[in-house]
Amino acid sequence: MPSLVSHPDEVKVVSRRFGLGATDIDKYVELDGYKAVQQAIAKGPEWIISEMKASGLRGRGGAGFPTGMKWSFVPKQSEKPKYVLVNGDESEPGTCKDHVLFLHDPHAVIEGTMIAGLAIGSKLGFIYLRGEYRYLLKIVEKAVADAYAKGFLGKNIFGTGVDFDIITQTGAGAYEVGEESALMESLEGKRGVPRIKPPFPAVVGLYGGPTVINNAETIANAPHILLMGGEAYAKLGSERNGGTRLFGISGHVERPGVYELPMGYNLKRAIYEVAGGIKDGKKLKAVVPGGSSCPVMTADEIDVGLDFDQMGRAGTMLGSGGIVVLDETVSIVEFALRTIAFYQHESCGWCIPCREGTDWIKKTLTRVYNGGGNKKDVDNVQYLAENMLGRTFCPLGDAAAMPTIAFVKKFRKEFEDYIEGNKAGTPIITVEQLVGAH
Ligand code: SF4
Repeated sequence: MPSLVSHPDEVKVVSRRFGLGATDIDKYVELDGYKAVQQAIAKGPEWIISEMKASGLRGRGGAGFPTGMKWSFVPKQSEKPKYVLVNGDESEPGTCKDHVLFLHDPHAVIEGTMIAGLAIGSKLGFIYLRGEYRYLLKIVEKAVADAYAKGFLGKNIFGTGVDFDIITQTGAGAYEVGEESALMESLEGKRGVPRIKPPFPAVVGLYGGPTVINNAETIANAPHILLMGGEAYAKLGSERNGGTRLFGISGHVERPGVYELPMGYNLKRAIYEVAGGIKDGKKLKAVVPGGSSCPVMTADEIDVGLDFDQMGRAGTMLGSGGIVVLDETVSIVEFALRTIAFYQHESCGWCIPCREGTDWIKKTLTRVYNGGGNKKDVDNVQYLAENMLGRTFCPLGDAAAMPTIAFVKKFRKEFEDYIEGNKAGTPIITVEQLVGAH
């Protein structure tokens, strides 16, 4: 198990059981586990939803949609069964927080799934892990089995007359199924491509039934919110951004790791104080603040609060909480190529702007990276990316276009210098290794 990091500025809510042996169900119960779900059964769906709304919790997968509101959209009456679907398809490069959650506190995800089920009137939840997290499945499956053995899952849970079941599932290793409708397709055993929306999953979701889909961290917050109260949770964060969140700080910092910080915490402090500053005393060059799809920030743009609204006003996104720190040795040309190579590989190919756009950007940047580029290539990359933006079927197209546009806009001179033979930064791998890897 990887060692855990910590810092005095952390406010541990969803991570408060990390490192305390809470994969063991008895330990989890000792640490207030499965109390919130029993409260939820006693107080009912309206109470759950009102607490979730009061908490100001917004989706931790990246979209930032208010969770309580999402749960309230599910129709009370439905001829078809309703479902809860936990999105553990954590595949955004730079993001590693749900991994730590499943590793250290799988029962919190299970309990949160049950609470979401009670809120919407569902009797069945699914926990879907990304294909590459197959090794975590053993931990989650054991936790589910232990909960069944204790009578916390299955028929008549806690002797209350309520039934709730959980099924675990892994994907086959596709970034695209992190998109909620593609996730449902995959879970139904089909190719993981997105569905046309509307209808939205809250009305027509998994197997055609009303479905709530939440990121694993979002779901794992629910028990804590019910125990501490929605308002108390909201106060931990910033305006319209309740609570705390897990940030995975990686790259060129002294103390990389997953830290739980209040929403609105300053990004500069997160890098320089929490994560110990730039490794080996080097200079900061750029930060990708919330996973690879978020527009890059330059070193002088990072004095900003880490919440959905402040990051939006700063021209980027909070995203999935994966902060990637790049020091002065990084070649932005290489980084941009590596980023687009990932999206080109993961594009499902359904719609032309994404399929062709990612391919042509990759080809062009490969030529530049190889030393055969010309100045027009920089304009072409920008043109291609700008014409993908908002014109693709699902968010993957935007996720590829947005960082590309930002790399070219903010580091244009570096691209141009590179073309003229002045290669800033130190390439890490050869272009053959880089492109061949995808
Ligand atoms: Fe597929 Fe890309 Fe179109 Fe999404 S945007 S549907 S991943 S081709």
